[in-house]
Amino acid sequence: MKIRKNDTVLVIAGKDKGKKGKVRFAYPKRERVLVEGVNFIKRHARATGQVRQAGIIEREEPIQVSDVVLMCSKCNRPTRVGYRTLADGKRARICHSCKEVID
Ligand SMILES: [Zn+2]
Repeated sequence: MKIRKNDTVLVIAGKDKGKKGKVRFAYPKRERVLVEGVNFIKRHARATGQVRQAGIIEREEPIQVSDVVLMCSKCNRPTRVGYRTLADGKRARICHSCKEVID
C-alpha cells in the first residue's frame, strides 16, 4: 500500500475533505488507514467491566486509502506516490512533484 503508518495525508473525499492528519494505523488488507482527527464516529457505550463511563464516545474510524493523498515530507505538497529502485535493490517511494525519496 502506498500510504504507511506515520505518513501525513490530506483527505480528498468524504466529510473530512481538506483535513490533514497523521496516519496512526494502516490496514493494507482492508485498504484503509486510521488518520488522526479524521472520520470521528459517535458510538454508544455501556458501562461494563472495562469501560467505566457509559454514554456517547467519539473515536476515529479508518477511511479508505483512496480518499487520502500523501503529503510529501520534502516539498510539503499533496502528491502521488511513485517508486524507485535504490542502489541496494530496495524499492523506495518517491514524490511525483519533487522526485525526492520519501522513505
Ligand atoms: Zn515532494
